[in-house]
Amino acid sequence: MDELRELYQEVILDHGKHPRNLRALANPTCSAHGRNPLCGDQLTVWLKLDGDVIADVSFQGSGCAISKASASLMTGAVKGKTRAEVQRLFQRFHEIVTGKPATQGRREDLGKLAVFSGISSFPVRVKCATLSWHALNAALEQGVEQVSTEQ
Ligand code: ZN
Repeated sequence: MDELRELYQEVILDHGKHPRNLRALANPTCSAHGRNPLCGDQLTVWLKLDGDVIADVSFQGSGCAISKASASLMTGAVKGKTRAEVQRLFQRFHEIVTGKPATQGRREDLGKLAVFSGISSFPVRVKCATLSWHALNAALEQGVEQVSTEQ
């Protein structure tokens, strides 16, 4: 129970209950749908690009609190960033949620995204936490309109 309490930290709960940027985007540059069959999470990510910069980003979907909270925090984290910055952020995020020791002490770079570091103790939940990021990636690599965590 303590572990669960640690996992569902206040920030995750808040974003899970009240996701930010939860809407469809009018005239998006690109979008992608992601699904995580293991948990039943699915969501669509919309992007509006201004050159190389993510000018706006939003999502809609259904699933567990982790997937929603992660999508909510992801949209907040990548807005205003360039593709390259987003790639680095995703890489860093992926490292903390999978518990890669190389990133210890570098959590400050992630800001609020660091609340997901506890997820590494729950391997099944890692896919919930990374789903929105995979969808974001797919949208950035235009042409890929659907992505699954089980590929
Ligand atoms: Zn889930």
